[in-house]
Amino acid sequence: MILLISGPSGAGKSTVYQELMRREPRLDFSVSTTTRPPREGEREGVDYHFVDDATFGRLQQAKEFLEWADVHGKKYGTRREHVEAMEAAGRIPLLDIDVQGGVQVLERCGAAIVSVFLWPPSWESLEERLRGRGTDAVDVVATRLTNARWEVDYAERYTYWVVNDEVERAVERLQAILAAEACRRERIEGPPLG
Ligand code: ADP
Ligand code: 5GP
Repeated sequence: MILLISGPSGAGKSTVYQELMRREPRLDFSVSTTTRPPREGEREGVDYHFVDDATFGRLQQAKEFLEWADVHGKKYGTRREHVEAMEAAGRIPLLDIDVQGGVQVLERCGAAIVSVFLWPPSWESLEERLRGRGTDAVDVVATRLTNARWEVDYAERYTYWVVNDEVERAVERLQAILAAEACRRERIEGPPLG
C-alpha cells in the first residue's frame, strides 16, 4: 500500500500528514528531491533533498525517479529506490506530490495506491492559507494560486476526496480511509481460517 496525497499548494497537505504520521506509525514519509531552494527552517534530508538543476538532470537521465514533474517552475521528483526500500521494510510510503506526479504514480503502481485529493474548503481559504503561511514571496503565492485553478481538474483521478476544513477532522478522515483500505480483501494474504 502506498498513500498518495495531492492537492493545491496551501490546501494543508503538510499540516495534515504530519499529524497523521504521529498517529499512524506504519507510515513513512517519502522525502522528495527538488531544485526549489529551502524555506526557512526546512532541513536537508528531512523536508526535501535539495539539489541543483544539473544533479536533478543526472538523476532523471539515470531513471532514478518513480515520477517527477515541473511544479510552479521548479523540479520535484520521487526516488524509486526510497519507495522500494520502505515497501521492503513493510512500511507504508506516504507521497505528498503534485497532480502531474500523482497521475504517473497511479499509472505505474496501480492497485497499490491509495489516492487522496485534499481540498481546501474554498478558494478564499486557499488564498488566506497561502498568504498566512508567510513562507513564499508575493509572486510565488500568485503562481501557486493560478496553478491551483488547473490542478483541481485532476481531482477526478483520485479515489478519495478529503476537505481540510479543520485539521482534526481531515486527519480523522484519513485515518478512516487507511483503516478501511487495510481491510480490503486483496490486501489480506489469504483467509484467516486458511
Ligand atoms: P500544503 O502542504 O498543502 O502546501 P500547508 O500544510 O503548508 O499546505 O498549510 C498551508 C497553511 O495553511 C499553513 O499556514 C497551515 O498552518 C494552514 N492550515 C493547514 N490546514 C488548515 C486548516 N484546516 N485550517 C486553517 N489553516 C490551516
Ligand atoms: P512545496 O514547494 O510547497 O514544498 O511543494 C510544491 C508542490 O510540489 C506541492 O504540490 C507538492 O505536493 C509537490 N511535490 C513535492 N514533492 C514532489 C515530488 O516528489 N514530485 C512531484 N511531482 N511533486 C512534488
